[in-house]
Order: sequence, then C-alpha cells, then structure tokens
Amino acid sequence: MCKRLSADIFSKLLQERVLNFIYSKTSEIRNGDNMIVLFDMDGTLTPPRKEITHEVVRVLKKLQRYSRIGIISGSDTDYINQQCKRLFEIGGVDPSKLDILPCNGTKLYKWKHTNYSLIESVDMREKIGKTAYRHIISKILNLQSSIVTLYPALPFTGTFVQYRGSLLNWCPIGREANFSERDDWKKNDKEFAIREAYSEELEKFIKDKGIDVTVALGGTTSFDVYPTGWDKTFGLTHYPEQPAYFIGDRCEKGGNDWHIYKSLEKHDRAWKTSGPEETIHLVEKLIEKLRD
Ligand SMILES: [Mg+2]
Repeated sequence: MCKRLSADIFSKLLQERVLNFIYSKTSEIRNGDNMIVLFDMDGTLTPPRKEITHEVVRVLKKLQRYSRIGIISGSDTDYINQQCKRLFEIGGVDPSKLDILPCNGTKLYKWKHTNYSLIESVDMREKIGKTAYRHIISKILNLQSSIVTLYPALPFTGTFVQYRGSLLNWCPIGREANFSERDDWKKNDKEFAIREAYSEELEKFIKDKGIDVTVALGGTTSFDVYPTGWDKTFGLTHYPEQPAYFIGDRCEKGGNDWHIYKSLEKHDRAWKTSGPEETIHLVEKLIEKLRD
C-alpha cells in the first residue's frame, strides 16, 4: 500500500516536471527568448550620431515577437540613450526583451521591473595595469599633437581621449565635433588616410611595449583601444546558450564589427549593412526565416 502510494506520488511529480519543462520550452519559444539578435548602433540602427527612426523602431518591435534583441555599441550609455530614446517612447519596443551592451558589450544592462540595471562590467586599467595604460595615454597625446600640427585646417574641438571603463576612445577632432566638422574630418581622412597611418603608428608602439591591446577604427572619426579579446565578441559571452545573430556596418578588417562578424558569419548568422534602410530590409528577411 505504502509502496503503491509512493509510486503514485513519484509518477505525479514526474508528470508535473515534464509538463513544466514542456511549458518552459514553449513559452521560451513563444517569447523569442531562445535566441538573440545583436545590432550595432551607429551606421546600422541609426546614421552616425543621429537618432533612430520610427521605421527602425517598428521593425525591431516586430522582430521581438520572434527573438530577444540587443544593441551592442562601442559607445557608452550616454550616446545610446541620446540616439535610441525613441525605442522607449509610447508604442516602442518591449524593454524586457531588449538588452543594452555598451562599450563593445563589456557592460550589460537588462530591464528589471521598471528600469535598466547594470548586470556586468569590466575595467581596462585593471586588466592591463597602470603602467601600460599610462604608456598608451602618453603615446596617444603625442600622436594627437602631431595631427594638430600636421593638419592645422582640421576642425579640432575637445575631448580627444575618453576612458569608457573597458576601452579607450581616441577621437582626433574631438567628441564635441558637430556634423559638418565630422564631415570635414571624413573627407580629409579619406584623402590622406590619416587614421590608417596613425593606427599603424600606435599599433607599432603597443607591440614594441609588449602590451596586449587591440587598436580598431571606431565609427568614422575615432579609434578604440581595448584589451585583446574585448571587441564585440565579448558581448557573445553573455549568451552562452542562445544562438546569436549580428547586424553591423563596419564588418571589414580593422572595423569595430569585424571580430563579431567573422565569428558568426561562418554559421550564417551575421550580416553587413550599409545603413538603417538596409538594416530594415535584413530584419524583414530574418523575420520571414524565423516564421517558417
Ligand atoms: Mg557602426
């Protein structure tokens, strides 16, 4: 009798567990939490340093029916807030299914109840040590001085170097540059390959000093310097069990989307875009695929 009772209880418990498991899996699929689509921001979701459009918000909202989404940018939260605030307006996306991954994904913010909370972050100075960090700063200031001397006609502003916790951003015309000043820089950079030359110079210095950091072109006006491996592939470490997809605009070698693009392209889960319009088209195609 006692044996019979415990067998019944056991079978009930087992049945309950199986049902719970099936329910959790179907609700995972229904909520789209079984995969993540990561988007670069500048040049992908928005034009560089400009706001996201209603059209992009609409397509992201639609994608959320099938997948969790994330914004992975070299920028810190200030620029993401400025450029993507439309996502959170009435009729915008579901924040509980939108992760924010600033500074190449070395910071992770998730929506908790009523606000975004910082879940993880890392520190570049701690990683490479104060001396190595000081060497890099000193060399960048040296190179900045050389650019100011050699290209006096460029529209220099302020905040040439910005520490973002997990990376160092060096912007030779300064982060305060307005759109026309940025365009001036882009034209000069295209004509004289300024960033290419200075990136080589900085890389050589870093190699000679034996410092394990990477120099990448950040957006259209700056350089990002970060511990090797702290490129956007770092963002993938937050999703060990979910297949990740990526869309970005700087997927060529030396661009700040290159590493993550290369790591997902081989699984046919990464696409290069020429700007927000093409991004909308790519997302529509992805939705069609997910619907099947
Ligand atoms: Mg970009």
